[in-house]
Amino acid sequence: MDYAQLRKIMVEEQIAARGINNQRVLDAFLKVERHKFIPKELEVNAYADFPLPIGEGQTISQPYIVALMTDTLGLTGEERVLEIGTGSGYQTAILAELAKEVYTVERLIDLSERAENALKEAGYTNIRIKSGDGTQGWPEFAPFDRIIVTAASPNIPKPLVAQLKENGRLILPLGESISQILTLVEKHNAKINTKQICGCVFVPLIGKYSTEAN
Ligand code: SAH
Repeated sequence: MDYAQLRKIMVEEQIAARGINNQRVLDAFLKVERHKFIPKELEVNAYADFPLPIGEGQTISQPYIVALMTDTLGLTGEERVLEIGTGSGYQTAILAELAKEVYTVERLIDLSERAENALKEAGYTNIRIKSGDGTQGWPEFAPFDRIIVTAASPNIPKPLVAQLKENGRLILPLGESISQILTLVEKHNAKINTKQICGCVFVPLIGKYSTEAN
């Protein structure tokens, strides 16, 4: 199968056609080999317009949602980014193309190891990955210019706000388990402003500072 061609179609029909026109973002989606981040048996669907299971009851988001979240972060190439919910590592790879350094935390060790291998094989050297509870952030490397949470939480985990730089941006699916609102959080003068982007459905964020899960 001609995966490069499928990527081109994905970018044109699912991402650019829906209004994302930042060329750096589109180039990252043209480049990253999404089929290398999902289970072999689902590879033929790698560039399709829907989420896919990645094992352990978790999912990789639909390409457009990954693109929308990435675009909303407004990356220039200089940022240090914290990602919570490594999952397959696909979003991590996209971030690594567009930011300076990416720190990513995954709760499930099996997924974390699989993602680490895929990211190593793809040749990234600006990613640091660990297994643990991402609702606690990654204090050793804080503060971060950008934080992206790719699992749903009923609240904004406090440690993540604390680890976000002044004028930083955090994006997360905010809401209860059935559906959520993709929300942009900006920090100015130590206060946060939130902006709702669109409805979405993510697997739950399970951890100490995600309140519904306790
Ligand atoms: N960005 C991923 C999507 C992963 S789905 C991708 O591109 O594939 C969300 C992931 O968040 C799941 O793998 C789940 O295990 C993880 N997760 C849930 N709660 C978490 C927590 N507290 N800390 C870190 N990861 C968590």
